[in-house]
Amino acid sequence: MEETPCGFNSHRPHMPKTLKIIPLGGLGEVGRNTLLFEYGKSILIIDLGFRLPEEDMPGIDYIIPNLSYLKGKEKNILGIIFTHGHYDHIGAIPYLIQKLKNPPLYAANLTRGIILKRQEDFPLQPKLEIKKIKDGSKINLGPFKIECFRQNHNIADNLGFLIKTPVGNIFHSSDFKFDPNPVYDQPTDFKKLKEIANKKILLLLSDSVGAENEGHSLSEKTILENLDEIFKKAKGRIIAATFASLINRIQQIISLSEKYQRKVIVEGYSMKTNVQIARELGYLKAKKGTLISAKEIDRFPDSKITVLCTGAQGEGQAVLMRIANKDHPFIRLKKGDTIIFSSSVVPGNERTVQILKDELYRQGAKVFHYKMMDIHAGGHAQAEELKKLIKILKPKFFLPIHGQYSMLIAHAQLAREMQIPEKNIVVVENGKVVNLQKNKIWVEKREVPSSYVMVDGLGIGDVGEVVLRDRQTLAKDGMFVIVVVVERQTGRVRGSPDIISRGFVYLRESKELLAQTRKKTVEIVERATGSGGAVNWAYVKDEIRNKIGDFLFTKTQRRPMILPVVIEV
Ligand SMILES: [Zn+2]
Repeated sequence: MEETPCGFNSHRPHMPKTLKIIPLGGLGEVGRNTLLFEYGKSILIIDLGFRLPEEDMPGIDYIIPNLSYLKGKEKNILGIIFTHGHYDHIGAIPYLIQKLKNPPLYAANLTRGIILKRQEDFPLQPKLEIKKIKDGSKINLGPFKIECFRQNHNIADNLGFLIKTPVGNIFHSSDFKFDPNPVYDQPTDFKKLKEIANKKILLLLSDSVGAENEGHSLSEKTILENLDEIFKKAKGRIIAATFASLINRIQQIISLSEKYQRKVIVEGYSMKTNVQIARELGYLKAKKGTLISAKEIDRFPDSKITVLCTGAQGEGQAVLMRIANKDHPFIRLKKGDTIIFSSSVVPGNERTVQILKDELYRQGAKVFHYKMMDIHAGGHAQAEELKKLIKILKPKFFLPIHGQYSMLIAHAQLAREMQIPEKNIVVVENGKVVNLQKNKIWVEKREVPSSYVMVDGLGIGDVGEVVLRDRQTLAKDGMFVIVVVVERQTGRVRGSPDIISRGFVYLRESKELLAQTRKKTVEIVERATGSGGAVNWAYVKDEIRNKIGDFLFTKTQRRPMILPVVIEV
């Protein structure tokens, strides 16, 4: 079936036009990393983000979207447009952009600045060219006519998109919340949203991250007031940890510090970088002399110091953890310090954050957490706002994006409450292909590749399921190496097998177990080699691996990774 570039089927002119929408990305978070639109041979991509690994993925830095579906279709990519500068929307660019053969990129000023700055950390990568877009910009990419509009979030320059396609108009919400009283940003422009609604929305793609939370997200103004309360009462130093990309929050903390005559020390590579870009581009304001370096901390009384740092997620290498572990070159905790965690805990990090909090208390600090006080607004619209957006736009079809599966389901429920018929709502996970026509939406049976692509150091995608499983085994039960020297002629074991083990048992206290294992190994090898002749060495190794594995399991209830080394002499 040949299709013309506009997607119109030349042989069967009556076939309705179809647009394909495919969410791609790592793990559960659907369409958060990347969303693909395909019409005939034209492809449009929104966002290219990464996800942090789960706790059971040792050594993995990031998970990036699986773009195998685009292999061979690179020339069809008309452009990639970015919603905002959070890493879960832009972080995969350095790993994927060359594979995509450098298509045209579009981003708002701050988003662009963050992307370009991060690209400098990858010196082997080409310099990127990114066209600037802003509220009101129009981009024409083949069958896709895109209009950009401002959406409130917790970073400046966040854009939603109205995508006009031959099938109908699609509204992409980006990450968003409605904020009547934002700080250092304009309030939500409901007039504009109503204007867009008048253009008739066929499909709404809306942020689901806050869908499970009732009510309305907190206004940034409320957060500022609560933070002010903490600043007013703090006698010693304030150490505020937040995400490096929460530029609004960083601004609030800097402004409050100025209000209470505190100097601000910005610590953490990503935090420093973001503060620098945001200041250069005018998105962050600090008076001359407010920001000082960590080395100068002792030049000022404790009551005049704020430390703004990374590590609110308990990340091992981040600043707050290093301070707690007495590992930071200039900053040690003192009694009377006030620590503010001003960011929600990313699911999966709860335990590490708890351990960090305990350690901070142990050293005499006062800890304020978002659960105790509303000092962090998620940045994501909650149930009432999500319903309001549906009410304003009155879309025919609804596809929840951005979030874990349970959030998508909760969001779909809200859409039903807003009278969108069941058959007009689709909930899909990554790799599913959604077909959209003027009067119909449905999901294809096939799936495009969506397995994890893991980044470990310089390697992209080379750590697959097998390597990961090995790492999990090593982390769980350690490893056990058995070295056997076998005479090729006779198939007999020479001497006693050598055993090296890490993370399994303490060898010196397990002499009996080791002696039994050696004996067992000799038996297994000699049975497997038979009585001379051609020996299948792979079989011998498998036998050692399986039988010694079973043996150790019966003795210890542990399954270390067994590495047989057979040396023929
Ligand atoms: Zn975001």
